[in-house]
Amino acid sequence: MDYKDITDFVHQLYGTEDFVPLSVPRFVGNEKKYLEACIDSTYVSSVGPFVDRFEEEIACYTGAVRAVVCVSGTNALHMALLLAGVERGDEILTQSLTFIATCNAISYIGAHPVFIDVDRETLGLSPDALDAWLEKYAFLSQGVCRNRRTGRRIRACVPMHTFGHPARIEEIAAVCGKWGIELVEDAAESIGSRYHGRHTGTFGRIGALSFNGNKTLTTGGGGMLLFNDPELGARAKHLTTQAKVPHRWEFRHDEIGYNYRMPNINAALGCAQLENLDRIIASKREVAAEYKRFFEGRDGFAFVSEPDGSFSNYWLNAILLPSRAEREAFLEYTNDHGVMTRPVWELMTDLPMFEGCERDAQRNTRFLADRIVNLPSSPRV
Ligand SMILES: *Cc1c(COP(=O)(O)O)cnc(C)c1O
Repeated sequence: MDYKDITDFVHQLYGTEDFVPLSVPRFVGNEKKYLEACIDSTYVSSVGPFVDRFEEEIACYTGAVRAVVCVSGTNALHMALLLAGVERGDEILTQSLTFIATCNAISYIGAHPVFIDVDRETLGLSPDALDAWLEKYAFLSQGVCRNRRTGRRIRACVPMHTFGHPARIEEIAAVCGKWGIELVEDAAESIGSRYHGRHTGTFGRIGALSFNGNKTLTTGGGGMLLFNDPELGARAKHLTTQAKVPHRWEFRHDEIGYNYRMPNINAALGCAQLENLDRIIASKREVAAEYKRFFEGRDGFAFVSEPDGSFSNYWLNAILLPSRAEREAFLEYTNDHGVMTRPVWELMTDLPMFEGCERDAQRNTRFLADRIVNLPSSPRV
């Protein structure tokens, strides 16, 4: 198969004949200045002014009541689930079309993922499939939601905003409310993305962001917890800092804590990145608009646009190919011709660790997993 017009288009889009990567960070602001200030101050580790500033600024940017830094998005999710009251043996409703981190965090607690289908338009958890599964398999007993077949408690639901496109999160929140299930949003890919004007990750009591190197805003590695409840935020700060009781010199810890606090040097990078975030997202949306125009009316390529009522950061642009065979041919040609493209993650249900987990029919999930390809999506700033 010949996809020359597509590789030519991508090279022209980025103004280069060289290899075009999938997603690379841009450091066009105060990154070096803040890193230097951080080093000069000697506060490079887990305490320092950039940590507090980054938390305050992310809270302000997202509209969360409180934001708490973590070392990675994965441990932000782990902490989020702990704070949601998830315990060993609980079941967590989530999607199979996600990055491994979502399910690893569930597994750290000894809880079990249950895989619910996604929507074809949003690529995120389907509130209809969620409600249908719960109606069929769940019951409420004294306010606790349980799985009829396993008897296990269903404690939380973790939808993910795939590639930065918001899921139908208000409807998901409503279903969770009806069944007494805690909503924990995996907003790792969706900083800057909003649904009906509200930032992703703020629809439940807890959300998690990631600042890994390939994400829209990077701190090298890092994550952030978002809270609507200041007390839960304070508890997160305590647990992520070894559960140390504040004191000028005494080392007293009042429960099992975690060393999950982002170092000041990473937060310095984050503060600088945040100053340019809206510019970066505007540029990514321009790239997306150009792809959309290019693929419009081209048979066999469906460009994935932001869902109605939402504003997407277009973290990774995606198209759907007609079949798995064509997807393979497309991946082969583009990667051979200087354009980095990738299939979506292998489904969680196909990985050995999660083979035995409960799931629904996964119709849209399978359809999408066979067809999605991600295209180069770096901002052009
Ligand atoms: C990136 C990502 C995470 C967190 O990853 P870290 O590398 O630990 O920051 C979690 N969930 C999803 C869906 C992601 O894409």
